[in-house]
Amino acid sequence: MALTGIEIFKLLPKTNCKDCKFPTCLAFAMALAAGKAELDTCPHVSDEAKAQLKDASAPPIRQVSIGTGEYEIKIGGETVLFRHEKTFFNKPGFALLISDEFGDDEIDRRMSLPSFYQYERIGTTLRPELIALKHKGEDERFLNIVRKAKERPYGIIIMCEKASIVKEALEILKGRRPLIYAATTENFTHFGALSKEYESPIIAKGNDIEEVCSVTEKLISMGIKDIVIDTGAKTIKQALQDQIIVRRSAILKRYKPLGFPTIVFPYTMANNLMKETLIASAMIAKYAGIIVLSDFMGESIFPLLLLRLNIYTDPQRPMTTQEGIYPINNPDENSPVLVTCNFSLTYFIVSGEIENSRVPSWLCVMDTEGLSVLTAWAAGKFVGDLVGAFIKRCGIENNISHRKVIIPGYTASIAGDMEEVLPGWEIIVGPREASQIPSFLKTWKN
Ligand code: SF4
Repeated sequence: MALTGIEIFKLLPKTNCKDCKFPTCLAFAMALAAGKAELDTCPHVSDEAKAQLKDASAPPIRQVSIGTGEYEIKIGGETVLFRHEKTFFNKPGFALLISDEFGDDEIDRRMSLPSFYQYERIGTTLRPELIALKHKGEDERFLNIVRKAKERPYGIIIMCEKASIVKEALEILKGRRPLIYAATTENFTHFGALSKEYESPIIAKGNDIEEVCSVTEKLISMGIKDIVIDTGAKTIKQALQDQIIVRRSAILKRYKPLGFPTIVFPYTMANNLMKETLIASAMIAKYAGIIVLSDFMGESIFPLLLLRLNIYTDPQRPMTTQEGIYPINNPDENSPVLVTCNFSLTYFIVSGEIENSRVPSWLCVMDTEGLSVLTAWAAGKFVGDLVGAFIKRCGIENNISHRKVIIPGYTASIAGDMEEVLPGWEIIVGPREASQIPSFLKTWKN
């Protein structure tokens, strides 16, 4: 049972020291009870109190991890209804359906898709993480597919109604933490026992939310914690309603039987991939933990990965690109060097214009804490001595034979200070607008 704000307050040091950034211990206690603060923010809580507060400070939706190694995915762990209240933490996983009804060639093609569709974006790799292996035909053929899947690094969902076959699949995948689909009111004893024996997360499935609650309650009473919910929705309307009810019950009411991440199957609600993709996009925003798709195509999975990236970035922090040197159009020692800030929008615009120019160039991106060029300059984070020090530190001089650097036109005033920090360098003031970069670079002569 979750503690109230007053109950939490009684366990805090009551010094009102403000180290947690709240004005008083009572304000912190209230925020903690509402899931809007984290216990670790107060460095003065005793170990004894920590143990008692563990439940109150645990996220109202349990975090569940699936898979191991580089493809391990964590879902759930959310604390708010709306992203702008704080942030969403764990992005939903995308799973590709692989049924044993498919031919061998099709199965091999599908096994390779999650690693085929990988995209680099602002220093992170966007990719789907999971495959969902569905048993419909022969047992041995299904188990052979499980063996094939074991060779791949992805997270795996075992979709099978026969407990004996699930057990064999779990034995094959021992140590890989696959997700078991699914415990129901009829089979929860056997499936729950398998989940415990193999320490694998399990899906609680019902035909409606009421039935799901009865399954999760039974699994919880068996001591199982890592549960994912399938409400059985077969239409977009029902799926959206269910997702919202589950999230609101968990966050606002702290209702334990629904305090778990969810899984949805857009392919059961659509008759083509385009519609399925649209439904999946709604499920990213409203609040799926895993989205199982019937196929991956570049034009379907890329927009979904991008939407997921946008929704699951922290709105309290600007999106940034990693500081460093970015080679564009295969530059060499004679190529021009441009410097800019690490606000990701600036990076995309500037790098895009350099790419369009087809002029081989080096782009040096400086960490300005995500501020754009002019804002960073006004905040003292993109000034001459700092930019000069960055040019020295980043090591670009090892890549070039000349000593020239192009700065953004709006920050022409930093050139003098840069020259002091970079003796022997020529500081060239570039164009004010990114759109003028291509014509500017075409005049470049070393
Ligand atoms: S840091 Fe801890 S002790 Fe200090 S005000 Fe916050 S809750 Fe109270």
